[in-house]
Amino acid sequence: MNISQYEPQKNGLKWLFLDLNSYFASVEQQETPHLQGKPVAVLPMMTDSTCAIAASYEAKKFGIKTGTKIYEAKRLCPTLQCVLARHDIYVDYHHRILEATQHCLPVNKVWSIDEFDCLLLGKEREPAKAAALAGRIKQSIYDHVGSSIRCSIGIGPNSFLSKVATEIEKPDGLVILHPDDLPGRLLELQLTDLPGINIGMLKRLHKARITTMEALWNTSPKQCRAIWRSVQGERFWYWLHGYDVPYQETTPSMVGHSRVLDPDLRGAEATRQMARRLLFKACTRLRKKELHATHLTFKVGLVDGRYWLGTQSFSAMQDPFSILQHLDQLWEQMTYECHITSYHYKSRKMIFRKVSTLLHGLQDETAITDDLFTECLPTSKKKREKNEKLASAMDALRDKYQKEQVWLGVTPQTLAGHVGTKIAFSRIPDKDEFKY
Ligand SMILES: [Mg+2]
Repeated sequence: MNISQYEPQKNGLKWLFLDLNSYFASVEQQETPHLQGKPVAVLPMMTDSTCAIAASYEAKKFGIKTGTKIYEAKRLCPTLQCVLARHDIYVDYHHRILEATQHCLPVNKVWSIDEFDCLLLGKEREPAKAAALAGRIKQSIYDHVGSSIRCSIGIGPNSFLSKVATEIEKPDGLVILHPDDLPGRLLELQLTDLPGINIGMLKRLHKARITTMEALWNTSPKQCRAIWRSVQGERFWYWLHGYDVPYQETTPSMVGHSRVLDPDLRGAEATRQMARRLLFKACTRLRKKELHATHLTFKVGLVDGRYWLGTQSFSAMQDPFSILQHLDQLWEQMTYECHITSYHYKSRKMIFRKVSTLLHGLQDETAITDDLFTECLPTSKKKREKNEKLASAMDALRDKYQKEQVWLGVTPQTLAGHVGTKIAFSRIPDKDEFKY
């Protein structure tokens, strides 16, 4: 794509972006009143060796943030309250927050569990009106969801700059970045405060002698394109300068789940069951998206630091029974190559640390070119159709009876409850996913 082909337009204010502050920790404080006003860390599992996945504002004052090891966090703040993550509740609050916002303004796009944007129309684009609207949204969340749930709202000429504006004042901020005032308050930020600038990109910017926001502001679209090594850099430049260049929607290229195993479920059989369960979940998402996969990658991390990774390719399919057979083959190959013997199965020795299954090479129904070989084998095609019907029946049963009613094989108990349905900030699980 060549962005300059369609002459990016400069706008006045057009977008409102809402970012919830310390989201998981705030929800825990809302749910459990004695946690209010206290330093809280949310943990994926109850052990000091894990990392915080969220920290309340009170905990942040001690230097605790997402990613801080819990033993370190407890050293920084001996009164730290540690709570186990409850992702189903966070998804529930997410929907309630969206509803509270929609009382004031329609939500345009949900970017993650704790971020979404809204398009401003007509008079709403006047700075005073936009600010008043932001105030009403905050009040509506306060009234309908809870007083512990706070957000930073940014208003700007495009969704990117509105999001950046939420970074300037936290918690409970409201910042307007008017295109006429740019770069203005942008200069208060660090380069890594901008979405799209991670450690890798920061290194590239430094190499190009760009170390400050001011230096970044003074680049050209062409220069950004060269630094990013893609058109994304050019798009970034236009966003930064207040142009409303559309985001490019991408169809998902992979569906997968990974999980760090609970310390007492690191034996061979428990790990095999977990891998099967994660893959089954991925298959369910695949069917919901009406996609078919052509590759399966299976990876395990061992407790001694080694890892094993294998991939199988197949003709496009979505039925979990056939895909699980490919996992079985990969598992067998892994046990052979990693010298996992029946001794390991019997002794329940800790062997694995992490497991992931990834379906990729995704195609939708229209793109599938069934390979001639399987087409020539009516039994295999029939079998697959039968399997797909069975899988849909299982989906229906699960929807009806909730949670663990229908599952292949053993259900491992885990410290954290739901298998694999943890919240990646980039993807909101459907409420339904907590049933698997
Ligand atoms: Mg946030």
